[in-house]
Parts: sequence; C-alpha cells; structure tokens
Amino acid sequence: MDKHRGFLQHPREESDKEKVYTRVQHWHEYEHCMPAARLVRQAGRCMDCGTPCCHHHCPVHNLIPDWHALVSEEHWQQAYEGLDTTNNFPEFTGRLCPAPCEDACTLRLADASVTIRSIELAVIERAWSSGWVRPQRAVQSISARVAIVGSGPAGLACAQQLARAGYQVTVYEKADRAGGLLRYGIPDFRLEKSVVDRRLAQLVDEGVEIKTGVRVGADLPVNALECDALVLACGSEQPRDISVPGRSLGGIHFAKDFLTQQNHRVAGDRVGAEGAIVAKGRDVVVIGGGDTGADCVGTAFRQEARSVTQIQYHDRPPTHADILNYWPEPSPEFHKNDHDEEGLVRIWGWDTIAFGGEAGKVKDVALQRLTWSKDAGGAWKKKLVTDETQRQRAQLVLLAMGYAHPEHDGPVAELALDLDDRGDVAASDKDYKTSSPGVFTCGDMRRGQSLVVWAIHEGRACAHAVDDWLSGESHMPD
Ligand SMILES: Cc1cc2nc3c(=O)[nH]c(=O)nc-3n(C[C@H](O)[C@H](O)[C@H](O)COP(=O)(O)OP(=O)(O)OC[C@H]3O[C@@H](n4cnc5c(N)ncnc54)[C@H](O)[C@@H]3O)c2cc1C
Ligand code: SF4
Repeated sequence: MDKHRGFLQHPREESDKEKVYTRVQHWHEYEHCMPAARLVRQAGRCMDCGTPCCHHHCPVHNLIPDWHALVSEEHWQQAYEGLDTTNNFPEFTGRLCPAPCEDACTLRLADASVTIRSIELAVIERAWSSGWVRPQRAVQSISARVAIVGSGPAGLACAQQLARAGYQVTVYEKADRAGGLLRYGIPDFRLEKSVVDRRLAQLVDEGVEIKTGVRVGADLPVNALECDALVLACGSEQPRDISVPGRSLGGIHFAKDFLTQQNHRVAGDRVGAEGAIVAKGRDVVVIGGGDTGADCVGTAFRQEARSVTQIQYHDRPPTHADILNYWPEPSPEFHKNDHDEEGLVRIWGWDTIAFGGEAGKVKDVALQRLTWSKDAGGAWKKKLVTDETQRQRAQLVLLAMGYAHPEHDGPVAELALDLDDRGDVAASDKDYKTSSPGVFTCGDMRRGQSLVVWAIHEGRACAHAVDDWLSGESHMPD
C-alpha cells in the first residue's frame, strides 16, 4: 500500500454487526472484530498528518499514529506493545469508548476519520489470542500497603499500576464480583464478562488481592483498613431522580437496578420473582438518553418488551452540522444508534410532568413539550409549552437521567471528606488528594459520571500521585 495515501484508495469501513433479528435473541456481543486484512487497509488510511489531535484527544493519550503504521505493515505484536504502555484495558475501550480520537482525526476534515477504536480492539484481541498479554510482575517489592475501595476501571487501573511498581495492593469491592459498572452496569451484549474476568486474572497474577463482598464504611470501617495509603474509587452511584406526581407508583425503577438484575441473570445467578424488574410483554418508557438509557433500551428489547420508547429532554440534533465549526470536537449531529433499528421510538424535546397509575401501578407517562433557547449569556434555557401535552402508555418506566454524585454515606461520611460544588469528592487532577491526609480519590467519584477511558486515565494518574506521596518521587507513567 502507498504509505500515508491509503485514504485515497480505501473508504472507511465499520466492523460487522449481527443482524437485528438474531442479535435480540441472545445476550452475547453482536459487534465483531474486523478481519485482519480489512484492518490493515483501514490502518493504512492514517495520513500520519503530523498534528495528531487523535492522540491529544484520547484521554489516555494512546500512541495512535504509531500503531496505525505498525498495523498497516502487519507488525501486530509491536502495535500491542505500544498500546500497552498507555492503556491498561484496551479491550474495554476498544468495545465501549465513544472515541473522541475519531472526532479529532485530521482526515475527518475532508473524509471519514480512521476507524481507530476498531483497530485498538483488534490489536488487543490479537494480543490476547496470541498469548502476548502476560502478567507483568514487579521487579522489586515495596513494603508499603495500598488499599483501594472500588473495583471499576479506575480502581483496577490504579491497582495494576501500583502492583507493577511493587506495592502491596488490596482492592475492596462491595459487590459479589469485581468490575464496577463493567460488571453490573454495561450489558453483556456490549461487553461479555469473560473479557473482564481474564483481565482480573492478570491483576491477581501480578499480586493484586481482590476482596469482594466487602462494603467499606459499613461491613468494614475505613479505620480498620491496614494500609499506608487509601484510594477511594467508588464511582458516582447516586442516580438522579424525578419529583413529579405519581413517582411512587409501582413499575418505576432506576435504570441501574434493571441493568444489574439482568447482568446477574446472564451470569447465571438466581434473581427471585419478588422484586424482579422485567420488560417482557410490557410497554417500556425509558426517560433519559446517554449510555445508560441506550443499555436499558437494548436490554428491554432482549427481554421481549412489547414496545420501547425513549424520552429525551433535548431537541433532536440536526442531521448535518458544519464540521469546520466544531473539529476537533464532535459535531452535534443526529446519528442513528443500534437500537433504532431494533425498533426504538425516540421522542425529543418533551419533559415528564406526571405518572398516571391504576391499582398502584404505573399505566402511562404524561409529557409536556419543551422548547430551548439561548439567553443573553449563551446558556440554554428551557421553556414548557403549556398547551402541548401527550401521554405515553407504559407498564414499566426506567429512569436513566444520569448520576448526581457518589454516595455520601460510607467512606465519605466516615472520613468527613470535603465535597466539590457538584457533590463529588473534592480532589484536584494534579495530586488526587482528598481533604483527609493519605486518602486519594479517582474516577467517577472525583470527576463525576464520565467514561471508562477517563476512569482508566484517572486510575493511572492517581497511582502516580500515591507513589509520589509514599516514596517522595514517582517514575511511574500517569
Ligand atoms: C449503564 C451504563 C453504561 C455505560 N456505558 C459506557 C460506555 O459505553 N462507554 C463509556 O466509556 N462509559 C460508559 N459508562 C460510564 C462508565 O461505566 C463509568 O464512567 C466508569 O465505569 C467509572 O469507573 P469507576 O471505576 O470510577 O467507577 P465504577 O465503575 O462505578 O466502580 C465503582 C465500584 O466501587 C464499588 N463501591 C462503591 N462504594 C463502595 C464501598 N463503600 N465499598 C466497596 N466497594 C464500593 C462499586 O460497587 C463499584 O463496583 C456507562 C455507565 C453506565 C451506568
Ligand atoms: S481509548 Fe478511546 S479515545 Fe483513546 S484511542 Fe481508544 S477509542 Fe480513541
């Protein structure tokens, strides 16, 4: 291939997805890795433009143009070795990342961006299947002990970095299995849990001790943890609620409860009939967009809901936006998602004003039209259009309006930690130190609800800060 001119010969290609009819009948992943020959061509589309905004816009600063060059010449193992220096868990980001790198790809100014996320996934999956991903045990042992609370991507990235540096690391997790939202938030059809398990096995091989079923701050007080430094990576677990008439009716649930139950079922756990949240045969209304809302929609279809409607607060984005006004940021354009073709109905620009019920159970959702305009300062303001209302039939309503902040009981209360003005645990992204000496925080607990790739970045950077605090300096990458 003519180096750096692949984009003139090959259009962008997407990875293959299983057809709707079959994929909604099971819980396995339905997006598949592209075959190697196609990936080599796709990597060859990288222009090596010299201004790699992709690298800058990737929160872990993956060395993207470098691995494109290596993959285009089929040097897969070297591509993996480069990827491993910046990202502890490319198999998670390769499946889940919204890929801000692709928005920032220079090729996007004239053509479709390079398919970076698919290439990342292919590199790491080839590394696993070829046996290149091995435990990286520390070459020295440091006696200092670090306790990490929370086993989501932030806690695990932090644990892996510190264990590889030689620290004695224990991760405490209140759930029965480790993984955080990778385990009990994101459904198997986007991330099969064997992918999480094989990475956990690597951490254990590297010396990380993982204790599940321990809620720190309740089962085990923080002051009973035997450690020289403590990292809190408890996520942002307080869901946003809605305060409208009818909220207490049966059949209205937080998204996380619905998703967690289904993840338990797929894992083979028994979920008793009492308290079970199921969409089968029901008209389901999901309130809120984002990844959580989309996962509720996909789960409801796989549970054989009669209909699924998603209510979005904001107006539908335009179908086209001038990229020159936005690059290297994403343009606010409407894109169909996978669930649109599964049968989703989306309603844009409506506010939920009440739930209607019958015999104590929800039967519909009352909506009122919203319009949006900018005030003099440029901030978006909503206005309810009072004469435009509608009701949506629903026997199951899922609240997917995001997460406000971390839980304020448990470790936060016990240590009386300072909070920032959003209610997240206060700590800067320079040193990750909370208001309590020797206590650090990272991930969604510090930055608010965010992305897997940011959690990995924060876990790595927090490990660097802990190492610096315990040893007086750090040579660890952050
Ligand atoms: C449904 C859903 C879908 C998502 N989809 C995507 C996506 O496609 N792409 C993407 O990039 N991001 C996605 N996200 C966001 C992403 O999952 C989070 O940003 C990320 O998991 C945050 O990582 P974390 O380690 O900070 O916290 P978490 O993953 O939330 O992990 C925190 C862990 O701490 C544990 N814990 C809390 N308190 C205690 C305690 N007191 N004692 C012991 N353990 C405790 C919790 O049980 C949990 O396991 C999604 C989020 C949700 C909810
Ligand atoms: S982690 Fe996300 S932003 Fe970084 S290279 Fe992968 S897809 Fe792009």
